Amino acid sequence: MKRAHNFSAGPAALPLEVLEEAQKEFTLYGDSGSSIIELSHRGPEYIEVDAQARERLSGLLGLGDEFEIMFLQGGASHQFMMVPFNFLDKDKTADYINTGTWSKKAIKEAKLFGNVNVPYSSEEQNFNRVPESSELKLSGKAEYVHFTSNNTIFGTQFSKEPETNGVPLVCDASSDFLSRPLDMKKYGLIYAGAQKNAGPAGLTIVIIRKSFLEKGKKEGIPTILNYNTHVGTMFNTPPVFGVYMFNKVLGWIERKGGLEAIAKRNEAKAKVLYDEIDADDFYAGTTEKTSRSLMNATFRLKDEALEKAFLAEAEKHNLNGLKGHRSVGGIRASIYNACEPESIEALVSFMKDFRSKNG
Ligand SMILES: *Cc1c(COP(=O)(O)O)cnc(C)c1O
Repeated sequence: MKRAHNFSAGPAALPLEVLEEAQKEFTLYGDSGSSIIELSHRGPEYIEVDAQARERLSGLLGLGDEFEIMFLQGGASHQFMMVPFNFLDKDKTADYINTGTWSKKAIKEAKLFGNVNVPYSSEEQNFNRVPESSELKLSGKAEYVHFTSNNTIFGTQFSKEPETNGVPLVCDASSDFLSRPLDMKKYGLIYAGAQKNAGPAGLTIVIIRKSFLEKGKKEGIPTILNYNTHVGTMFNTPPVFGVYMFNKVLGWIERKGGLEAIAKRNEAKAKVLYDEIDADDFYAGTTEKTSRSLMNATFRLKDEALEKAFLAEAEKHNLNGLKGHRSVGGIRASIYNACEPESIEALVSFMKDFRSKNG
């Protein structure tokens, strides 16, 4: 067996370099006499890993002193509840932009805690686009504006942050976190499950602006769900393996030249794939072109039988994970940071071949 070209939406491909580094030191970490996952999270080895991950993340995103980083668990789905628990109540409002399944789930949880205004929804168009800022009907009294930067299932992505007239953004960045630089001054809070673009499942990265945290509730929140509990201290055992792997992924991004360089690489990769999708009518992109995701490219073929054949044939060519989400069907190629340009070349070459045999 050899490693396949992996287009899985999540958990997803990790850089081979990172996996090999981890493999090499998995049973014996440094001179500790143990694996890193067998050591106390308060011991010097793990403390060093944790600190390095924070420093690297801060450097890559340019966080400065205004932000706190938290390494939590529970996935992005947990943050759907934790954000409104901390920042909403019955006499407060938040604006939630609805651009897909994950946005809807975030909205559902927020409604348990306070008032939710939806300034824009693409649901009636089967979530095939994200809005221009001019289309947003903001409430004007929101504690925050929540958006999903990349819609993993539908294959759309905000090319830049929505304009909010100074209201802090809260972002579910699970599926494009660290794929490009961010304009941090617009954000109050960013959360991301690691398993799409940053590491293994089990780690959730939360970045919060200190002044935003100040505006959150201080009481009436279970201790572990209060963001204040996690600032500047390890409240309980963090997902040590996740943080350890995340730190290695951050090191890999640094070696690639940082987020500007990663963004250029991702743009180039996506262009090669979309050019092939657009070459003629054999493949049909499912989203508006200006809303296309650089992380998850979604497309369809003439009918489901042909799509089934495409997927089966692709697997034979060592191209894995291309099946669209069960709720939408079709094909989805997830091409996160760790998806190498060679994998895109292999996919595109297969697509050309499949077209010429079936077109
Ligand atoms: C995968 C995903 C989620 C769900 O993440 P979990 O870690 O499984 O809770 C939420 N939002 C987006 C944008 C995702 O891609």
